Amino acid sequence: MRIKGNIAIDGPAGAGKSTVAKLIAQRLGYVYVDTGAMYRALTWKALERGISPQDEEGLLCLLRKIDYRQEFNPDGSIRVYWGDKDITRLIRGEKVTENVSTVAQHPRVRQALVGLQREMARTDRVVMDGRDIGTNVLPDAPYKFFLTASLEERAKRRYLELLSQGEKVTLEEVKRDIARRDERDSQRPVAPLKPAADAVIVDTTHMNPEEVVDFMLEKIKERSLKARD
Ligand code: C5P
Repeated sequence: MRIKGNIAIDGPAGAGKSTVAKLIAQRLGYVYVDTGAMYRALTWKALERGISPQDEEGLLCLLRKIDYRQEFNPDGSIRVYWGDKDITRLIRGEKVTENVSTVAQHPRVRQALVGLQREMARTDRVVMDGRDIGTNVLPDAPYKFFLTASLEERAKRRYLELLSQGEKVTLEEVKRDIARRDERDSQRPVAPLKPAADAVIVDTTHMNPEEVVDFMLEKIKERSLKARD
């Protein structure tokens, strides 16, 4: 399928965004951009430097010297760097996860990261996932999706993922963390988590990733044909 234009995917934690975004990027020859990884990288750096996640000025200081890079590999994996340091695993740690939605609440922090995200999307061939991509980062993207699933299902998926990475967590802890992040992400005044008016909403509770990808590719095809009419 030959299509043109960026693809925006939003939704709460554990809805399957990154899994399907990577598969779609591979199928279409697009680059996958994980915007959550940017908020996580900044959170990791702040914690490493002893800067409080509440301290917007301190975070902005770090952002002035940000040296952040994402690599999307042909095998569908993504690697994240701060300078020469590979922080791919570090940004998934418990401390970062606990604090990231506090870091993401600051308006000027968001403004700076959104600028970088728009820069990354200039090629017009990215699949970008996050919380505010369709509403705020790429409001003109021709393809927008909002992925959801029940809290139970999202917690189960994230729990199995963490177990497979050797993390020691309980399902209850994961569920609590996801519910807390959802609440902070959807209640914040700046760019809260919500579907764009023109997004296709996909409830993935009873779907596997392949089914979600097939459904989304079908929608992309439909919209692209409509746009040519
Ligand atoms: O996608 P992921 O769960 O890794 O995102 C981590 C956190 O980063 C989210 O809970 C949210 O607070 C923040 N985020 C955001 N806007 C985005 C992407 C992520 O506020 N576009």
